[in-house]
Amino acid sequence: MTAYDVVVVGLGGMGSATAAALARRGQRVLGLDRYPAVHDQGASHGETRIVRKAYFEGAAYVPLLHRAYELWDELGLLTRTGGLFLGEEGSRVLGGSLATAREWDLPHELLDAAAVTARFPDMTPPAGTAALYEADAGFVSPEAAVRAQLERAVAAGAELHHEEPVTDWSADGDGVTVTTEGGRYSAGALVVAAGRWAVDLLPGLAVPLRVESRTMHWFDVPAGTFTPGRFPVWIWERPDGTTPYGVPSVGPGVKAAVHHSTVQSAEDWTAEQVGELLRPLLPGLGAPLRAAPCTYTMTPDEHPVVGKHPVSDRVLVACGFSGHGFKLTPVVGEALAALAVDGTSPHDLSTFDPLRVLPG
Ligand SMILES: Cc1cc2nc3c(=O)[nH]c(=O)nc-3n(C[C@H](O)[C@H](O)[C@H](O)COP(=O)(O)OP(=O)(O)OC[C@H]3O[C@@H](n4cnc5c(N)ncnc54)[C@H](O)[C@@H]3O)c2cc1C
Repeated sequence: MTAYDVVVVGLGGMGSATAAALARRGQRVLGLDRYPAVHDQGASHGETRIVRKAYFEGAAYVPLLHRAYELWDELGLLTRTGGLFLGEEGSRVLGGSLATAREWDLPHELLDAAAVTARFPDMTPPAGTAALYEADAGFVSPEAAVRAQLERAVAAGAELHHEEPVTDWSADGDGVTVTTEGGRYSAGALVVAAGRWAVDLLPGLAVPLRVESRTMHWFDVPAGTFTPGRFPVWIWERPDGTTPYGVPSVGPGVKAAVHHSTVQSAEDWTAEQVGELLRPLLPGLGAPLRAAPCTYTMTPDEHPVVGKHPVSDRVLVACGFSGHGFKLTPVVGEALAALAVDGTSPHDLSTFDPLRVLPG
């Protein structure tokens, strides 16, 4: 059996960043993935992922996001377009973004519906809707990010085996053993960053994971509209709680999708329904052009699970990103590398604790 310092299972968003961070710290790293590099079978594909700091999901994310921004800038992959987080007064998206911005003194502006349209002519929010505008928000390409992290890992000496599914792992006092369809490997530590397949590879996890499907849609738009520079990233919590989002156009069409839904399952929205839902906000939205499936791995409190596996300090996990994890990939990679090498993380991961108390 070949021995490594750390085996990383899963080379998607989290695993690629972790393999790169570990290799750059001089670790002997083996990365394993069931698919070819930069595939579209998991959660890290679809051209764009929103990156933002005024986080309505919780102010505790902000120190991690500050560090993630530094790392995205180091990678040169963040396109800042500004971001609009829209809703009625008291909505989670607007109120939560504002609370986090105020708590951390993050630069932001509050805009009413008319001010939004005056600044972003492709967007016409209904009266009564307001927005927090964050100039620092933008997007990254998940494909470019995974590719860049895999290249960094290899450049720093990591060995990566694509198309080699892991079937089992075990840990004891001396280290870990990882079994794949092609062989067995021993290492001092194991990182499981298996996305939706964490459900199979981490059966003993205390935080239950639920896999949901989501469809990303692209719509035709008039030439020269919805472009970066003219149009921001956005998330809109409608009065009924249904929450669509979108990103400026970077290829054919503009992307929009449903994050959470109250009127029907978020899994069931067709392109026609998304278009109909959004035309009051985005009157330039034309016919659906294309669509792509993707998966969310949800936890009950919608916070990820990042930290030491309860069965062994040598096994680290990163899963359950609940549809909002990509922006965190570089900082999660850095934190997992530190946990594997130093035994502690430089970042406070208590919100993501695998043993946290969950809502009843
Ligand atoms: C439609 C959609 C929109 C999103 N929008 C945003 C957004 O705007 N902003 C944001 O921050 N986040 C967003 N997210 C969430 C974000 O994309 C995910 O949280 C992130 O990509 C998860 O990365 P991951 O590494 O956990 O999973 P993945 O990237 O899926 O990686 C898991 C990897 O593990 C491998 N694997 C699994 N099992 C095995 C095995 N047994 N052996 C070997 N390899 C294995 C898989 O092949 C895969 O490569 C969105 C997600 C979706 C689906």
